[in-house]
Amino acid sequence: MYLEHFIWSAAFAIIVGVIVERRWGYSLPIWIICASAMLPDIDYLIQTIMYPLMFIFPIFNPLFITHGDFHNIVAVIILSLLFAWLLNKYMKIDYNNAFICLILGCIFHIFCDYIVYTATFHVIAPRFGYELVGIGILPERGTLYGLGEPIIFAVGILCLIIALSIKFYYLENKWIEDISVVCEEF
Ligand SMILES: [Zn+2]
Repeated sequence: MYLEHFIWSAAFAIIVGVIVERRWGYSLPIWIICASAMLPDIDYLIQTIMYPLMFIFPIFNPLFITHGDFHNIVAVIILSLLFAWLLNKYMKIDYNNAFICLILGCIFHIFCDYIVYTATFHVIAPRFGYELVGIGILPERGTLYGLGEPIIFAVGILCLIIALSIKFYYLENKWIEDISVVCEEF
């Protein structure tokens, strides 16, 4: 499940953007929600890098990060604080807005994993506390050249079309205004 995370989170981000804009009248940097769609899965990347070390230093095995360790509340908060700080420092994005988008993106990633997989998730912290077993409502078989499962992908595309329709319906005039302002600048 790689491509689907982006498609699903794009749909989710658009809906969040519409709600925030309608309710509070300003636009969140919703691209951060899409960009953080894969963020909890960096535990997989770290595991791959650390894997050879597990054989060299088996005594530290309980400390090694494995896939799933960043799929919980503590890890999501730490990741969001860290990346919000980076986005604020290097891209001058408002810290609070970046933090909110990161939290939403990461939680949505875990929610998608929870729906698709039947893996066990530790809710509070890695390998600690209450365990939740994924419901596996849309079982992944892994095709699309290893990048995703067609049915999950198709559902994501459908959600994206619905989200874009909702955005267009509610923010139609504003969209047109925004585009005309951008066009005038060129
Ligand atoms: Zn994941």
